[in-house]
Amino acid sequence: MSELLKSAFYTSMHVTGLFELTRYLNRKNGLILTYHGVLETGSENYVNRNCVSREMFDRQISWVKKKCTPVSLSDMVQMVSGKKKMPPNAVAITFDDGFRNNYRVAFPVLKKHDVPATIFITTDFIGSKGEKLWTERIDSIIYSATIRRLRLPTENGEDLFDISTPENKIQSSDKIRKYLKSKSRDEREQHIMELERQIEGMRSFIDEMDERYDFLDWDEVSQMVESGLIEIGSHTCSHSILSTLTEEEVHSELLNSKMAIEAQLNKPCTLFSYPNGTPSDFTHRDKKVLQKLGYETALSQIDGLNGVGEDIYALKRINIVRSPNFPFFLSKATGIWGKMKRLSN
Ligand SMILES: [Zn+2]
Repeated sequence: MSELLKSAFYTSMHVTGLFELTRYLNRKNGLILTYHGVLETGSENYVNRNCVSREMFDRQISWVKKKCTPVSLSDMVQMVSGKKKMPPNAVAITFDDGFRNNYRVAFPVLKKHDVPATIFITTDFIGSKGEKLWTERIDSIIYSATIRRLRLPTENGEDLFDISTPENKIQSSDKIRKYLKSKSRDEREQHIMELERQIEGMRSFIDEMDERYDFLDWDEVSQMVESGLIEIGSHTCSHSILSTLTEEEVHSELLNSKMAIEAQLNKPCTLFSYPNGTPSDFTHRDKKVLQKLGYETALSQIDGLNGVGEDIYALKRINIVRSPNFPFFLSKATGIWGKMKRLSN
């Protein structure tokens, strides 16, 4: 479906009240939204993966405040476990990775509406200057490159990726990230360095756009926690995908990130979100390690709502990406978009 058609389709669902009806039917299930970045309106247009504008975020949070029951993630976990009563349309807001724009752009909006949120931080990157997650390095290479194609050596020789238009850049970035996800850290690093070599001297907008990938520092993290509105959880130390690690490595990622957060904030860290978070990114073994270390919940990126009795070590979330319009956000937040996607696959 073309963008225009999709947009018209979601708008018609909005107008006919279908979102309202779906929300009513699902009112007993908890909704957890995932955000990554919130950028100043206008600057999110190009480097757009997993970013929403301040304006759109404000509208979405205002909807959560007016039409739903905002709850903290800790409360949501109690509700899903049956220890607290789930209010109708309970919604918890979460952010993954720990970007500085969460503090600069998203936090003022959350304060304005008095809506709580949880930020899952990748502890090795907190306070780092200019360091990026490997996924963001690939995005940064692709989006800033002014060349038309990238070459990537593979098992069968070499793959060519078209990066000549914004749409092709998005598709190529998705494919390259997917391919490199299965590689070891060293192999991945070599591939990324090779990509960097290809665009040397062929980049635009490096500085202003790179800010999108900056991480929080501990002072910003503390300030948000002191406000009483923000909870902090672990997203590992290095953003490694747990299922690709040995048990000792998993243990160290989960323990060291927890200890770093507890030392800085002086309170227990019991919340976790899996890097990447699809069903193949974590295993039963990882859930056992989480439990043993005192984590009370772990959030996946499996699309859906959470009823009472859901596995609290694999809670479902709905990922909010840049929306062409507000009805598109509603289609995601009501779970309709995810259902349609599963049906069309
Ligand atoms: Zn992440």
